[in-house]
Amino acid sequence: MPVASAQPQCGIVESIAYPVDRGAFSIMQDFAVPNYRFRGMYHTGEDYAAGRGGTLGQPVRAIAAGRVTFSSPLAWGRDGGVVIIEHTFPDGSIFYSQYGHMVEVEGAAFPRPFTCVSEGDILGVIGEARPAPHLHFEIRNNNFDLAGPGYTEADPFEEGYRRPSKMLTNWQFALSEAHAWHLDVIDETGPRTPPIVLFDNSLLYLDTGRVSRVTSDGRVLWRTNLEREAVALLPATNAAIITYADGRMQPINDQGALGTSWETGIAPASAPMLVGSGFVFRTGDGGLVALNSDALTAAWRLADVPPIVRWASSGGVLALVTTSDELIVAANGEVISRQALAGAGSVTPTPDGALMAYAAGGIFRIDAPYALDGQPARTSGSALALAADGRAFVLDDGVLTAFAPDLGILYQYAVPGVGGVFDLALHGDILRFVSTHGDIGAVRTSDGVLCGLTRVFGDDRARLWSALGDDGILRVGIADQFVGIDWREFLGACG
Ligand SMILES: [Zn+2]
Repeated sequence: MPVASAQPQCGIVESIAYPVDRGAFSIMQDFAVPNYRFRGMYHTGEDYAAGRGGTLGQPVRAIAAGRVTFSSPLAWGRDGGVVIIEHTFPDGSIFYSQYGHMVEVEGAAFPRPFTCVSEGDILGVIGEARPAPHLHFEIRNNNFDLAGPGYTEADPFEEGYRRPSKMLTNWQFALSEAHAWHLDVIDETGPRTPPIVLFDNSLLYLDTGRVSRVTSDGRVLWRTNLEREAVALLPATNAAIITYADGRMQPINDQGALGTSWETGIAPASAPMLVGSGFVFRTGDGGLVALNSDALTAAWRLADVPPIVRWASSGGVLALVTTSDELIVAANGEVISRQALAGAGSVTPTPDGALMAYAAGGIFRIDAPYALDGQPARTSGSALALAADGRAFVLDDGVLTAFAPDLGILYQYAVPGVGGVFDLALHGDILRFVSTHGDIGAVRTSDGVLCGLTRVFGDDRARLWSALGDDGILRVGIADQFVGIDWREFLGACG
């Protein structure tokens, strides 16, 4: 029966939403975790429940328009019934959403097979299930007429199952007006070195053993596999220089051809930090090494530097915030100052060629005495940015604070729903931020208006990167995805 070779008889997905109210329901058992009640097999979906008896009898809704391919109140016996819906997405992909542990009640009968449903249609209500009432929700690309067992022996992803909250979050973004393109990378936390933007707004990035070039609109142009472990890409005239973990370097051109490699004797363990005209790396033995701009020889070395969480440089001076919440300022191989911060701080260059830092306790110029300004102690993945006129912006724990040049507070508010570690950048009057939780936002600095806010699926370990191209596309890297955002569309009325 050719049911799976879908004609989009029930429409193309134009919007998508969660099957239950995410304000009340949370994930009780995550995707792909082993469950020892089921011999350690892997969970094929996400289980949703609400607190304190708020789950039983709650409605379950279709996540998007689609066609019912399976519907049976008896599918899982005493553990309730199952509905499966087929969805056709604008890119032509087809996925099935499955809703399990439901029962029919008056006014909430299961939809009949082969009928069309719309986003938000009630499919049934949550019934009794072991060990407690919950919705088993899954998304997969096969078995349109099979109420699956909920667990697999093999990696569920390999079996065609997808992480439902990731699919929903990313499709919500992909279906939004500002979405331009989306590209998945392999490394779960994202490329370990920032991508390089080439002259035509294409990107060069390093991803688990290969370098790829992506066109300005998000299509992979070529990939070059590398024979050794690479840790960084350095921008170079003819594209980039690949830095290998064993200390070798090798040019790669914009067509993906590798040049002759050379030995530096320096084994980098971090992404490159641009200081003056050269690059500085943290090395595997816990030191810092600065390369001359020829990428051949070391300009200076420094021992005993803890892992780095933030850095900024200005006028050849490098400021580092370390995992041990220390602010280290170094230049030409010498430590200028070393001070303990209260919480995770951040640093940024100033327009006049100095550096500023933020930590619980306040903002201070690192070339001036630490000036406390009575700020409440809060820091968790803070970010700091400075405007040319001396105003400072801090995003910390989801709270945005704008400071006047004299550090008086101009405005302060909690940006709704954002969190994680932040990264900030300024473009004229617009401040943009990205976070490890997947948040992407834009704020008008003059009055603090939140102009745009969207979200992709995040990861607490995510590496962050963003760049606004001269083609009007904001390119963002969060964890294992790059996305392109139409900047003007995203800014809305602020644009
Ligand atoms: Zn489940």
